[in-house]
Amino acid sequence: MTATPLLRVEGLEARYGGAVRALVGVDLTVGAGEIVALVGSNGAGKTTVLKAVSNLLPAERGQVTAGRIVYDGLDVARTPTDALVRAGLVGVLEGRHCFRALSVEENLVTGGLGRGSGRAAIRADLDRIFSVFPRLVEKRRALAGLISGGEQQMVAIGRALMGRPRLLVLDEPSMGLAPKIVAEIFSTLARLNRDERLTLLLAEQNVTVALRHADRAVVLENGRSVLEGTAAELRARDDVRAFYLGLG
Ligand code: ATP
Repeated sequence: MTATPLLRVEGLEARYGGAVRALVGVDLTVGAGEIVALVGSNGAGKTTVLKAVSNLLPAERGQVTAGRIVYDGLDVARTPTDALVRAGLVGVLEGRHCFRALSVEENLVTGGLGRGSGRAAIRADLDRIFSVFPRLVEKRRALAGLISGGEQQMVAIGRALMGRPRLLVLDEPSMGLAPKIVAEIFSTLARLNRDERLTLLLAEQNVTVALRHADRAVVLENGRSVLEGTAAELRARDDVRAFYLGLG
C-alpha cells in the first residue's frame, strides 16, 4: 500500500434518524491503485460506510457521529457530493440504478454532464465506455428499463466511469446477477484497475468473488471493522473460510 492513502477512514461512527447505530468503529484505508473489498453479512454496515464515504448519509436522515473520512486531502463530511465527484470520487450506490425511460446511450451521457466537458469530450468518453463494455454497443438505443440486469449494472458502472473517477465506490456489483455476468463485470473492473490505475472500494456479500479480485479486504461485523488483510491472508484464515466462504 502507498504511504499516503487516497482514502482514509478513521474511527467512523454513524447513526440513522438519531436512533439506529449503524456504525460503531470503522477504520480502513484505500491506497491509490488498490482494489479494496468491504465484506460482511447482511446489515453489517457496508452500504452505510460507502454512503458516508460519498457524503450521502445526510440525504438518508443519517449522520456521521464520530471519526473522520479524508479523500485526497479533502474532509469528506465538509465536502458536497458534487465537489467529491469533481475531485474523482464517484459512487455506484443504488444497486444498478438507471434512468429506465432513457436509452443506454442517454444514461451514459448523463454521467459526463457534471464535469462541464464539451460535446466532443463526452463523445470520446462514450466511445471509450462502449469499448470497455462492448455488450452495450448493440443496446445503445434500447431503453435502460428493458435490458437485462447485468447490462443495467454495466450501464450504471459506465455512467460512473463517464465522470472519470480516480476512486470508484461500488455497492454489491454482483447482487442478483448470474455468475457468468459477475465474472465479466469483475474482470472488466480488474482490467480498468490494472491498465488505468482506477482505484476501487467495493462492498460485496459474495466474499469468494471479492477475495478473488481484491488486493485487500476489510471485514465488517455489527458496524465495526474487525479484520483487515490481503486477500490471500483472509482466504487462508480458518474463521473467514468457515464463516464467509462456507469452507469450514
Ligand atoms: P446489506 O447488505 O443488507 O445492505 P449492509 O452491510 O450494507 O447490509 P447497511 O445497509 O449499511 O448494512 O445497514 C447497517 C444498519 O443500518 C442495519 O442495521 C440497517 O438496518 C440500518 N440502516 C440502513 N439504512 C438505514 C436507513 N436508511 N434508516 C435506518 N436504518 C438504516
